[in-house]
Amino acid sequence: MGKLAAVEKKSVFMGRLAFGADLLEELTRICKDRSVSCGRVEAIGAVRKACIGYYDQDLRQYQFNTMEQALEILKLTGNVSLKDGEPMVHAHVTLADEKGRAFGGHLAPGTIIFACECIVEAFDGPEFKRVYDEDTGLPLWEQK
Ligand code: ZN
Repeated sequence: MGKLAAVEKKSVFMGRLAFGADLLEELTRICKDRSVSCGRVEAIGAVRKACIGYYDQDLRQYQFNTMEQALEILKLTGNVSLKDGEPMVHAHVTLADEKGRAFGGHLAPGTIIFACECIVEAFDGPEFKRVYDEDTGLPLWEQK
């Protein structure tokens, strides 16, 4: 059975990310700079190109799809927790091309910002630490 813990909203940061920067690296840097180790992120905007992952459950590894084209960020949503003692952003994105066709997946390095407006919420609560999970092969939150 899954376990959930109560968290409380501590602070909210909102702003625009830098043109040409790596989207996942920027979100991670913001969290590290503001000591956000438990929270959530969301964003909208556009990217110049994208790299998104799909976790192959049988092979237990990500396969990455790189799209060398301008895309809209319809929705980025994710969370912030601790991995190896450092804030880690885990985010998924839905992107759309010029025809409005949507693609999505696990946000990976290599997704380059054209314009991005983001909101980061920091929570107070117990630590969420990522540890290796035998069932999935993924670094998931420790079940206490
Ligand atoms: Zn993911």
